[in-house]
Amino acid sequence: MELIVATKNKKKLEEIKEILKGLRLTILSLADYPDVPRIVENGKTFQENAVIKAMKIARFTGKLTMGEDSGLCVQALGGAPGVYSARFSGKDKDDNKNNLKLLRLLKGLPVKKRKAHYSCAVAIADPSGLIKVVEGKCRGRIGVEQKGEFGFGYDPLFVIPSYGKTFAELGPEIKHSMSHRFRALKKIRGVIEKYIERTRKN
Ligand code: IMP
Repeated sequence: MELIVATKNKKKLEEIKEILKGLRLTILSLADYPDVPRIVENGKTFQENAVIKAMKIARFTGKLTMGEDSGLCVQALGGAPGVYSARFSGKDKDDNKNNLKLLRLLKGLPVKKRKAHYSCAVAIADPSGLIKVVEGKCRGRIGVEQKGEFGFGYDPLFVIPSYGKTFAELGPEIKHSMSHRFRALKKIRGVIEKYIERTRKN
């Protein structure tokens, strides 16, 4: 059975594949469907955007599809960048520029006031409609400089308080055991398993 993950982001796809390891699924992505129509992510929440992606691609391909939308919410910025995380510093979706902008905005703010969380919404749909949408969160704080080589996006700035290290320093094993993406996928795993079983029986 195939599951299409409605993303072009290679790093996200790698993480999703790693976390869903063990399911009897072939995981494809938008890289396997170069002709899909452009997806307009105009939802106001992560869940709305995840549903838009899942439904659009499921209808287009006729296959089971996962839509994923995620981002960083910083308390001192009233929850920004939120759904605009990828485009925080401009249309070119440049991770380093986004991180530098975030550091600039939080300059001089003490540790206590640098609280943030990542959020990840995951929606599952097939051509007949939405099956389920869930959300996972991971709490942390924004560091004062970029540290570490692993991960992507804001990981060099996202400090996990219990380790005192960023996700980019901690690496994939620890990130995948506690991340927003891991928590959302854990909630949806059973839904996918049931879908596979039902389809096998029919
Ligand atoms: P999306 O592709 O529109 O969902 O954009 C998600 C953006 O949120 C990414 O480009 C990153 O900037 C940020 N983001 C989401 N998840 C993570 C993560 O696990 N680590 C670091 N940044 C993330």
